[in-house]
Amino acid sequence: MNRNVSTVLAGLDDARDDIENLYRDLHAHPELGLREHRTADRVATALQTRGYQVTTGIGGTGVTGVLGNGPGPTVLLRADMDALPVEEATGLPYASTVTVDRGGTRQPVMHACGHDIHIASLVGFAGLMADATQAWHGTLVTLFQPSEENGDGARAMVDDGLAGKIPAPDVALAQHVLPYPAGYVGTRPGPFLAAADSLRVTLYGRGAHGSQPQAAVDPVVMAAMCVVKLQTVVSREIAATTPAVVTVGSIHAGTGPNVIPDRAVLEINIRTYDTAVRDHVLHAVERILRAEAASAGAARDPEIETITTFPPTVNDTDTTRTVAAAFAETFGDNAHTIDLQTASEDMSEIPAAFGIPFTYWGIGGTDPAAYAAAERNGTIARDIPVNHSPFFAPVPQPTLDTGVTALTAAALAWLGT
Ligand code: ZN
Ligand code: ZN
Repeated sequence: MNRNVSTVLAGLDDARDDIENLYRDLHAHPELGLREHRTADRVATALQTRGYQVTTGIGGTGVTGVLGNGPGPTVLLRADMDALPVEEATGLPYASTVTVDRGGTRQPVMHACGHDIHIASLVGFAGLMADATQAWHGTLVTLFQPSEENGDGARAMVDDGLAGKIPAPDVALAQHVLPYPAGYVGTRPGPFLAAADSLRVTLYGRGAHGSQPQAAVDPVVMAAMCVVKLQTVVSREIAATTPAVVTVGSIHAGTGPNVIPDRAVLEINIRTYDTAVRDHVLHAVERILRAEAASAGAARDPEIETITTFPPTVNDTDTTRTVAAAFAETFGDNAHTIDLQTASEDMSEIPAAFGIPFTYWGIGGTDPAAYAAAERNGTIARDIPVNHSPFFAPVPQPTLDTGVTALTAAALAWLGT
């Protein structure tokens, strides 16, 4: 292991309990996007205690902590802070029981994407770096972003004048915990995460008594036809070698069995890695929706709104090579090239605002023994919970040690003395 990395990580044995306690506390107290007030307070206090210059409330609940340590490069490391409207089913002693009011209904909240791992790792890393200033020089910028899941948190921080609140970084780094064995780290140059477009589609029919279909234009049937026909976009219009996903994640119509409603609402999620493919899929989806409405005799065209849109995450090649070399030296056989992922991220909006390169890597969070057993049985897809599942809770160790170590190895590739 690199000498500077060892110097910084020498403090990990003493810091480990605090890092694990912070993780469990965050896991038990998840907060939805742009409501991360408690989380932001905990982060800000931890950073202030370690001598970081802290700015809070950026883009709502975003936090930055800056630690200057003489001349040298400026490295930005980012963690996302938000949780999801998912009801936790892990049964862990520190499982979330939090619910919040959202538009008049109670919704459960859970750190089902592992952002609690990202926060605890970055806070832990920040503390170790503050204690080992002899191992590095330059400026460290830690950034805690709100509302990644809604795709608007990075943009909110940028629009709130992030560039004027922190020193201009030379490079940006970030990580995400994924359903690989804990201890695993994976880098990937070029495209890594998909662009994502979420659409809300309202199909307009004509309502009538359930006994009188002749008086109706039935939006339930129209919606069903659309759901089936949309399956042909990827299977019949996109080359088999080109990745793309079209998912109808939500379908709502009607209030009871004896009423034909006057509208149906579909929510559609689209993942692509390439602008031309993205344009093709978006056009095909719109073409099918309009044609199905016309085919049903709808008097009014469907309304198609964009709910969220995420850019693709395309890692800079040289930056990724630098981090991959640092990981190979630090993690040995646990350092891998990671597969292309269909998930999406808004992290790239932050480096884009500064015009700087970035790389974003994956770390494993699954119990290694459970993963090995599932791999042996060929049941990974069935047995290993993925991000956003009510069962997704990374094992604290070695996940947190890996998160802290990966941030250290990557940052010191620029900041190391
Ligand atoms: Zn997520
Ligand atoms: Zn996530």
